Amino acid sequence: MEQKRIYLDNAATTQIRPEVLATMMEYLSENYANPSSIYSSASSAKIAIDEAREQIAAAIGATHRNEIYFTGSGSESVNWAIKSIAEANKGRGNHIITSRVEHHAVLHACEYLEKNGFDVTYLPVDKYGMVDVDDLKSVIRPETTLITIMMANNEVGTLMPIAEIGTLLKQINAERGRENKIFFHTDAIQAVGHIPVDVNVLGVDMLSISAHKLYGPKGVGALYVRRGVKLPALIHGGGQERGRRGGTENVAGIVAMGTAAKLASSEMRAEARRHTAMRDDLIEKILKTIPYSRLNGHQEKRLPSNVNLTFEFIEGEGMLLLLDARGIAASSGSACTSGSLDPSHVLLAMGLPHELAHGSLRLSFGKDTAQKDLDKLVEVLPPIVERLRSMSPLWEEFQKTGNIDKLLGYAK
Ligand SMILES: *Cc1c(COP(=O)(O)O)cnc(C)c1O
Repeated sequence: MEQKRIYLDNAATTQIRPEVLATMMEYLSENYANPSSIYSSASSAKIAIDEAREQIAAAIGATHRNEIYFTGSGSESVNWAIKSIAEANKGRGNHIITSRVEHHAVLHACEYLEKNGFDVTYLPVDKYGMVDVDDLKSVIRPETTLITIMMANNEVGTLMPIAEIGTLLKQINAERGRENKIFFHTDAIQAVGHIPVDVNVLGVDMLSISAHKLYGPKGVGALYVRRGVKLPALIHGGGQERGRRGGTENVAGIVAMGTAAKLASSEMRAEARRHTAMRDDLIEKILKTIPYSRLNGHQEKRLPSNVNLTFEFIEGEGMLLLLDARGIAASSGSACTSGSLDPSHVLLAMGLPHELAHGSLRLSFGKDTAQKDLDKLVEVLPPIVERLRSMSPLWEEFQKTGNIDKLLGYAK
């Protein structure tokens, strides 16, 4: 009998839900009208889009559904927010603040701006991958126009103090005045649908979301833009998305995203509780059974579905291949960097030396992850680590000398 594959890479993407797929199919087949047309089938498409906008707004506590703009991906939302706000406000300042552990959509958008006359501060993080709010406060300048910090890290799962930053900015902006306001964007792509997200509690001006991280389809995202924030248009066209992102709407994708967000929100509490219990149990079992293993990221302030571990003396890639051979799909970091042999920029920013940043394993649960899947992992992982270590010159050297500090070049 073919063994069921175990998918533990939900931070890279999630499987579309059957209910979401069904809604999507309806708008790809019978309901194909262009929402801008005026006959009745078109108005039903328009109504469906508005309903999806309402569902996304509800999932993030937005006050008005018109604060939601649909985009073609999470990366698009992030790029739009960062580049457009930076450009629109460059007359009064060219300084942007972000962190060293952001997703590449944020980091590369910031690097692009740096090539175009902007000055970007990449905040360091502590050993758990968290920025310090006082650090952030100390780097704000009169010419700062934008702060962009992620809500939950996609590699190590660490939750950032977004609400605290929002509160700080509220005070700072009250002093600076409307014309000199610092805008606040968060990449909440790993958070929405998984942990509580409320734009008013967080105090953000803009927030990015992606459908395929919450059991929706790939190729559709959304950007929350607080009422009153003047975000320039991304695409000039037929006036869709209130003139800010032209192009005939991806009706099927949008409706699917709305349904996915609604379902994820309704299941979130129970699912987060279930994942947290499985997560803590898995971490405990692995750290106990595999010597020289360590948890990356914060123990409690982390996504319920994320486990990120380092196994000293071995490379993450080898582990992924052997796990794959046992029917388990996992990741060594982000999907975008796996395939390259560069160590994770997140783990390096957290202070892990190169050798350890290479040996990490990210396991991310989804709604179909069952305890027996993790039991299987706990069973197959120790012999895999043992086998890889038996082939590692570093491990051999360590067995002989017992000197880990010298080998890894850092003090433990
Ligand atoms: C997946 C992800 C993105 C990119 O979203 P896409 O929809 O794949 O473009 C950005 N940021 C984070 C934190 C992510 O996890």
